[in-house]
Amino acid sequence: MNFNVINPYPFVYHFRDPQGVCFSIIKGKDKAIVVDCGYGIFNIRELIENYIDTPYMVICTHGHMDHSSGGFLFDKIYLPEKDIELYKKHNSVEKRTKNIMDALNKQLITDEYDKETYINMPLANYEIIEIGTVIDLGDMHVEIIAMEGHTKGSIGLLVKEHKLLFTGDAAISMIWMFLEESTDKATYIEMLKRVMKLDFTHFITGHLMTVFEKKIFEHYLEVAIEAKPENSERVTFHNFERPNTFQYAKKFNDLNIGICYQEPKE
Ligand SMILES: [Zn+2]
Repeated sequence: MNFNVINPYPFVYHFRDPQGVCFSIIKGKDKAIVVDCGYGIFNIRELIENYIDTPYMVICTHGHMDHSSGGFLFDKIYLPEKDIELYKKHNSVEKRTKNIMDALNKQLITDEYDKETYINMPLANYEIIEIGTVIDLGDMHVEIIAMEGHTKGSIGLLVKEHKLLFTGDAAISMIWMFLEESTDKATYIEMLKRVMKLDFTHFITGHLMTVFEKKIFEHYLEVAIEAKPENSERVTFHNFERPNTFQYAKKFNDLNIGICYQEPKE
């Protein structure tokens, strides 16, 4: 199975799996961090261990299954506390069944794939990672940042010495804020303003193979502030149907930046 990989910094490998979700390696001198772990359909443990020759920890940016379900491949994963229930829900038989059928329909797997084993795989061995934790990788430090909005527990990982932030889905070009587990828009806006004060210059998201400049956060903020039902389009997403869902988007040069939100928020 083909995974795309980029190596934008000497210490970063950023992958995208065939289902369109990313995971990354932050490779320190003594220790590494794996950011997110995919759906678990493909064995990304084997893949990433080709790139790592030190101990490593796996940290999920949030509880959604595309970022956490592959956790069972690893000895242990770390999750933000406020997304633990979401993580359990997103690793249900029902969610896994939908996911495997989706992969089958897209011909990413064949009929021979052992679907039952995947669907019934127990939860990963997990531990909570606290906001503010600083992890020493030997030659760099990574801090866990609260980035609530997309989900209540979403976190970012800030590589302090290199001013690089991993945002998962918490700050991304088309943010989904209409989910049951999302906060209201005002909370998301406050989070963006707070995170913009942090000392970083670039960031990497959970679905794109691009390193973005910090100034893109200003566009995220602008879009979130401007979005209201009168200037937005009504939308619905297969498997994520929710009432009163709207999308507002704007072009900033080549970048389409938008927000999908619910109003009124349930
Ligand atoms: Zn997500």
